[in-house]
Amino acid sequence: MSQKKQIEEYMKQVEEFVEQVKRSTGLPLVPDQKTGAALWFDQRSLTLRYTISVERIRRFFEGLTEGKLLATRCKKCGTIYFPPQADCPRCRTSDMEWIELGKEGELLTYTIIYTKPTSFAHYPDYVVGIARFPPGVNVLAWIRGPADPRRYRVGMKVRWEIVKREPEGYLTYELVPVEAEQQ
Ligand SMILES: [Zn+2]
Repeated sequence: MSQKKQIEEYMKQVEEFVEQVKRSTGLPLVPDQKTGAALWFDQRSLTLRYTISVERIRRFFEGLTEGKLLATRCKKCGTIYFPPQADCPRCRTSDMEWIELGKEGELLTYTIIYTKPTSFAHYPDYVVGIARFPPGVNVLAWIRGPADPRRYRVGMKVRWEIVKREPEGYLTYELVPVEAEQQ
């Protein structure tokens, strides 16, 4: 049984138990498994809608539609920010320029996500990595490929690619192992 199925199975049992207790006592009070202390068990689904102002980094999103991955660089101290920032906290200045990331980089680290946050529960197991791209920018992104640790190696060559994330249907970027290293 997959881990996801196990968790679902376990949660179903917990919910059934709570329902039973609620029917017989009128309260969703259940004992903590370890200590026996009373726990109030309740759950509800929330839909989260949010807006974030991105006006000052709008160029980044234009870049995605042009197939470019863009970072900002502080004109004063040269620090590069990715995801881009409109201000340099070191210099306390907003004197930034846009730079384009090189296409090919090196995988610094990665992890496979088997236990997903609720908002990502609709995805199959996925791989997240950090890769370094010229001129020295670390990019944290999903890695395209199977959730199999044998397929990835720290130091392997990867490129970034602009993709449409489904089911959301918007543009984002992901890391793709360079063909020659894929077995
Ligand atoms: Zn600076």
